[in-house]
Amino acid sequence: MSIKVTLIPGDGIGPEVSYAAQSVITASHAPIEWEVVEAGEACIAQYGTPLPEHVLETIRRNKVALKGPITTPVGKGFRSVNVALRKQLQLYANVRHLKNLPNVPSRYEGVDIVVVRENTEDLYAGIEHMVGRDAAESIKIITREASERIGRYAFELARQEGRKRVTIVHKANIMKLSDGLFLESVRSVAHDYPEIECEDRIVDAMCMNLVQTPEQFDVLVLPNLYGDIISDLVAGLVGGLGVAPGANIGEMGAVFEAAHGSAPQIAGKNLANPLAMILSGIEMLKYLGFVEEAKRVETGIEHVLRQRDYITADLGGKSGTKEMAAAIIKAMG
Ligand code: ATP
Ligand code: MG
Repeated sequence: MSIKVTLIPGDGIGPEVSYAAQSVITASHAPIEWEVVEAGEACIAQYGTPLPEHVLETIRRNKVALKGPITTPVGKGFRSVNVALRKQLQLYANVRHLKNLPNVPSRYEGVDIVVVRENTEDLYAGIEHMVGRDAAESIKIITREASERIGRYAFELARQEGRKRVTIVHKANIMKLSDGLFLESVRSVAHDYPEIECEDRIVDAMCMNLVQTPEQFDVLVLPNLYGDIISDLVAGLVGGLGVAPGANIGEMGAVFEAAHGSAPQIAGKNLANPLAMILSGIEMLKYLGFVEEAKRVETGIEHVLRQRDYITADLGGKSGTKEMAAAIIKAMG
């Protein structure tokens, strides 16, 4: 029996990298049936919104989606599609697996970090107001429920992937109540995972530690804002946006997407690096339990990166998006 998955090609380079990922995943023999739906700029003229209701409906029905980057039009009053999707589907965990890959230029070696970011609250609740004309106030919300939930997610992930350590990142020395509650809540969950080491770091020290000795870290769990910043920082440690996969996961489903945006300057030129999207597809395969198939794709990528004949310009090669995907498929055997 095949599993139905929603594919949203997206804007800019989205369609190129999405179809590249789709072809690679299909070639892995994973029994996936794709339901392709448009969201983003292509939808605005026809539906008046970049995220029409029927798109949400297919994701709700299929519960799993692979999504290309979607541009948020500036100054036209549209909310970010990405934020709307997370809200509507209650995708509470943003997860990025970031590790060094062969021949992907980076200043570091041996980095293999999973960043688990709380996705629903903190300053991202967006509750702000002016206090008179010359002051503004933004409210930071941290709840025990959401903090325990993300903490449990991080420890479950560590257990499932056989990882050794979870680092809680916070600023509880200054924000004693809000970050203090986050720290306390995640720690309370840690007791159920005695085989996994639990430690915590203050976010500023964490930044320094990450750029000095990133190889010492394993799983990081963070509230929303620090998570936003640190997940880009760690993406930078392993070679940047072209190789950073992402997943947004909730109880009702999951949306897998590359960390990069729509890069309109290189769109339609067969120049985009499809790896981040393909790596997101690998996360999707693992989520669906297709472990063998995921391994097959990993083997193909590894081969193509080592051999260097079919890599895109950002990786120092001359290959196009399509040719790189085709080479990965060939190498999967
Ligand atoms: P958006 O407004 O959708 O975020 P963006 O142009 O800011 O679009 P980003 O992904 O944030 O897109 O990328 C910044 C730059 O990084 C791009 O302009 C592009 O040069 C490069 N880049 C991003 N993703 C890729 C990719 N997959 N392959 C090659 N280059 C990329
Ligand atoms: Mg951008």
